[in-house]
Amino acid sequence: MTGRTPVRKASDLDALVVGAGPNGLAAALRMAAAGLKVVVYERAETWGGGTRTAALTEPGFVHDVCSTAHPMVAISPFFREFDLAAHGVRLMHPEIPFAHPLAAGEAVLVHQDLGRTAAALGPDGPAYEQLLGPLVDDAPALLETLLGTFRRPPTSGMPAVLHFARYGLRSAKSLAGRFEGEQARALLAGCAAHSMMRLDRPITGGLGMVLALLSHAVGWPVVGGGSQALANAMVAALRAAGGEIVTDHEVRSLDELPTARATLLDVAPDSFLRLAGSDALPAGYRKALRRFRYGPGVCKVDWALSGPVPWTNPDIARAGTVHLGGTFDRIAAAEADVAAGRHPEHPYVLSVQPTVADPSRAPAGRHVFWAYCHVPGRSTVDMTSVIEDQIEAAAPGFRDLVIGRHTMTAAQMADYDPNYVGGDISAGETSMFQMLARPVPRWSTYRTPLEGVYLCSSATPPGPAVHGMCGDHAARLALRQRFDIRRPPSLRNLPNP
Ligand SMILES: Cc1cc2nc3c(=O)[nH]c(=O)nc-3n(C[C@H](O)[C@H](O)[C@H](O)COP(=O)(O)OP(=O)(O)OC[C@H]3O[C@@H](n4cnc5c(N)ncnc54)[C@H](O)[C@@H]3O)c2cc1C
Repeated sequence: MTGRTPVRKASDLDALVVGAGPNGLAAALRMAAAGLKVVVYERAETWGGGTRTAALTEPGFVHDVCSTAHPMVAISPFFREFDLAAHGVRLMHPEIPFAHPLAAGEAVLVHQDLGRTAAALGPDGPAYEQLLGPLVDDAPALLETLLGTFRRPPTSGMPAVLHFARYGLRSAKSLAGRFEGEQARALLAGCAAHSMMRLDRPITGGLGMVLALLSHAVGWPVVGGGSQALANAMVAALRAAGGEIVTDHEVRSLDELPTARATLLDVAPDSFLRLAGSDALPAGYRKALRRFRYGPGVCKVDWALSGPVPWTNPDIARAGTVHLGGTFDRIAAAEADVAAGRHPEHPYVLSVQPTVADPSRAPAGRHVFWAYCHVPGRSTVDMTSVIEDQIEAAAPGFRDLVIGRHTMTAAQMADYDPNYVGGDISAGETSMFQMLARPVPRWSTYRTPLEGVYLCSSATPPGPAVHGMCGDHAARLALRQRFDIRRPPSLRNLPNP
């Protein structure tokens, strides 16, 4: 605790949340379910953070500004308890979770069925099944552990946890050594590169395994109508429980907030330093926050298309997500370029075609499509043409279908949402150390040295993606420490608006 005199205006509020991303909203809902009076402040005009949907291009087309593929929503203990269907949120599944085109019209197709996926990997099929099979069998228990705080031993699914510990700490490069053929190697690279790290770094193999596992365990669905529908359902439930949300309200200092017994911050660590003020935090904690490393950024393009993407391999038209960039070695080289501060000529491109699962996002017969590539943090370089070149290589004629496009450089992404520091959509590098010490090397990383103030963004465990678990873990800790509530009431007790 510090000796600073609080100057906050007195209020009868129980809890404040700064930031209405999925983690801030999850924290608010958990507090509201406990019967507490909660107010959420959001700097943007709309709530949702990384789950906003907007009309970025042409009339009749709606685009997810950030997240679209939601395996983590499907598996998250928070969202399972919230009961998406009861709140009107539909998860819509593409027939194929993801695909990875290779040369000459060849493609790896990752089906939800593990055996079918493995069968198409030729001689690597048995090795793929041996790697993923033990995880798929116990996926809910393993993923509950991986979406935990990393502070408690797992309570179930031990065989899967041990199997994951054996292989998951390795780099993607080391894991790829188990495969002979390019198909399985490329599949792994496409998943591991979501980490935005060099593929020879520890745990990139494990991060790739988790993404592949999710496709077999729950698929990679999109939210009907756009990811915004998820945030809207959370806000509607919060309001029905008596909570309030104030948009277009950037919090610049904690001192400007009214008093409350708990304040939960869905913000990046560097924003927290500014919000707290330079003298408010102990020097050691400040230093630890300043040491927290951010990863590279992304440059993202959204397109309105007059027709489906003309993939050379027609099976790719049935996939929700498409990893572009070719072989393992090419993707590894592109990620190494980015890590070295260079803009790759042939980047790894992560693309999503939401209208394959949810045609409501575009006029009949037309499509929305997005893709991003990794770039050095804070980059202002517009990578549209490089990204389109990568798409054209797998789908010649793509550019002829474009009727509208919208690009955000990494620097613009950071302006859009300050949690994506320098355009880093993971809100902090996902290295092994930083997955555990997120954002500081302490036992409780949610609690800050300021009394009653907690961090709850994806810069805390379990890290990035839309699962709400950072917010839920922080809120549960705040309920225990500030309100002496040890067993919070279920989210199912929230009134359904
Ligand atoms: C381009 C892109 C694609 C992605 N794709 C996927 C995907 O397909 N699947 C997936 O699972 N994840 C994806 N992600 C990651 C995912 O969106 C994030 O991990 C997730 O949104 C993090 O949630 P959060 O609540 O911690 O932060 P955010 O969602 O970033 O929300 C933070 C909120 O806090 C607000 N805020 C910050 N500071 C202040 C302040 N001082 N005052 C008031 N408000 C403030 C911000 O405006 C924002 O609304 C993607 C992200 C991006 C950018």
